Amino acid sequence: MSIYNSASLKAELNGHGWRLTPQRETILQIFQDLPQGEHLSAEDLHQRLEHDGEGISLSTIYRTLKLMARMGILRELELGEGHKHYEINQPYPHHHHHLICTRCNMTIEFKNDSILKIGTKTAQKEGYQLLDCQLTIHAICPRCQRALVPA
Ligand SMILES: [Zn+2]
Ligand SMILES: [Zn+2]
Repeated sequence: MSIYNSASLKAELNGHGWRLTPQRETILQIFQDLPQGEHLSAEDLHQRLEHDGEGISLSTIYRTLKLMARMGILRELELGEGHKHYEINQPYPHHHHHLICTRCNMTIEFKNDSILKIGTKTAQKEGYQLLDCQLTIHAICPRCQRALVPA
């Protein structure tokens, strides 16, 4: 897993027969500037781009996100809101996992070296090239637990 900059992304995309178009570069830049812990859905990204005066259609955004996730540039996350969220795929030591409240979708990021080690070892053993390793924990947060307690 490696973090991409424009130059290395261009090389990677070219290697796959894709071009780093200005639209793809704009999308990548937004993810690179995203504060840690923030995740964007295709719709979030679309709104943000419109706000910035960048007219990129939702279908182009969907395709670009899928492509970047397949290449291991972005991570595709199931954060339990009924649609996928994306974030940049950061290498160790920024690599992290998610703890999600199934009631309010409050998400906490956490790091755990042994999960990544298991992922790396398992992929290597089978001769796979690791792109990402995610553990998503579904749980009920303390606030929602208190709300569930009968008065
Ligand atoms: Zn995250
Ligand atoms: Zn909650």
